[in-house]
Amino acid sequence: MAYQTVNPYTNEVEKTFKNTSDEELEQSLATAHQLYLSWRNNDQLEERKKVILKLAEILRAHRKDFATIMTKDMGKLLSKAEGEVDLCASFCDYYVAHADQFLSPDVIATTSGRAKVIKQSLGILVAVEPWNFPFYQIARVFIPNFIVGNPMILKDASNCPASAQAFADAVKDAGAPEGSLTNLFLNYDQVSKAIADQRVAGVCLTGSERGGAAVAKEAGASLKKNTMELGGNDAFIILDDADWNLVEQVAPSARLYNAGQVCTSSKRFIVLAKDYDRFLKIMKNAFSKVKMGDPLDSATTLAPLSSKKAKDKLQAQVDLAVKNGAKVYYGNQPVDLPGQFFMPTILTNITPDNPIFDQEMFGPIASVYKVDTEEEAIALANNSSYGLGNTIFSSNYKHAERVAAQIETGMSWINDGWASLPELPFGGVKHSGYGRELSGYGIEEFMNKHLIYEPRH
Ligand code: NAP
Repeated sequence: MAYQTVNPYTNEVEKTFKNTSDEELEQSLATAHQLYLSWRNNDQLEERKKVILKLAEILRAHRKDFATIMTKDMGKLLSKAEGEVDLCASFCDYYVAHADQFLSPDVIATTSGRAKVIKQSLGILVAVEPWNFPFYQIARVFIPNFIVGNPMILKDASNCPASAQAFADAVKDAGAPEGSLTNLFLNYDQVSKAIADQRVAGVCLTGSERGGAAVAKEAGASLKKNTMELGGNDAFIILDDADWNLVEQVAPSARLYNAGQVCTSSKRFIVLAKDYDRFLKIMKNAFSKVKMGDPLDSATTLAPLSSKKAKDKLQAQVDLAVKNGAKVYYGNQPVDLPGQFFMPTILTNITPDNPIFDQEMFGPIASVYKVDTEEEAIALANNSSYGLGNTIFSSNYKHAERVAAQIETGMSWINDGWASLPELPFGGVKHSGYGRELSGYGIEEFMNKHLIYEPRH
């Protein structure tokens, strides 16, 4: 497997990275394990907080440089990549501000004696991360676990090696001890070998169902705690009392942000029959106005997809949908640009027997469904093997919340597209995975919640 930056706008190979040898992997595990022991034996939380504050400073000071690296790796719009760097810096602020609270012991109420749960690190984590938010995905797991005292071995996506290295270098520049975050260019066998290693305590993966199942199997075989943040086929439900100005403002970008390559992009738009034509027109109008071009240029509004492989896969999925009865309401035309662009596309008439019905399409494809009732909308939203997020539009909050509670997902957003903030737990149910990242829930995933108990005699 080649770790390469192939710029998806120019198609040029910008840089190739050398694979990690087995010896380098062993050395990295040994270093990380020593660090784990040293942190366990003398806390050093205050030192770790200082490193994270410094990391925030470095991220903010070099946001454009970091953003440019991400844009060259996987094609996202530079302005959005800059926003991603800022968001990572906000994770630093949040976990430093709340570190004492998250790590302080819980006193357990018992009349039988005295009991408390202390919060301890577990050991080395193997993090397997994707390319769609190159810095954010690493930050989401690295920052809280560094605060806890879990060193991390990172295996990032093979198409964004420069971003992974830049993040790891920033952590080093912030003063983190060697072994805190080790970015390695591992093949799949080496990932399995690392997971099975006795010194490794846990595994976190963000990626596809296929990648998640493969890595979870390895984690399960050696009984390693793991979290899986996988794909989604999020519904966007417009209730009969929706504010249509807001719908118009939000719906197109809920699908097109990051060229549609977001796990929580709204992918299935579920609309009442009376509003169906109006909604299609809104989407078509917005989709026809995008400006494709150089993602480094601030005038560009739709970036290329991350790679030729991603574009070919998406085209095959659209072809499959159409072959099985879906109608193209808009788009699906070739784009006359050398980069990996995909024209924003609106599909309708997708029936449950269409194989695409239960597949995630990772790109600018909106599937629009017509329903007669709210109950039908809820049933359709739940008719999915995924359960990551969903969006509900209603001008009555209570109404929206009632509907949200009936959707089998990990996250529901009301009157907006998806959101990710440091204090909001992120994760799904069903084939979208298990476990949570960010917030207090996320930092707890790889903690030893260690009971200390003395009965009354
Ligand atoms: P992917 O193919 O599963 O890759 C994700 C990571 O897993 C990459 O580092 C990949 O390495 C690695 N990987 C895959 N198979 C592996 C194996 N057998 N052993 C070890 N490592 C393995 O996912 P993707 O298609 O690139 O990423 C997009 C997917 O991620 C979408 O489904 C999206 O919805 C999901 N996602 C989920 C969330 C969430 O929070 N739930 C967030 C973002 C993205 P290579 O690159 O070397 O193959």
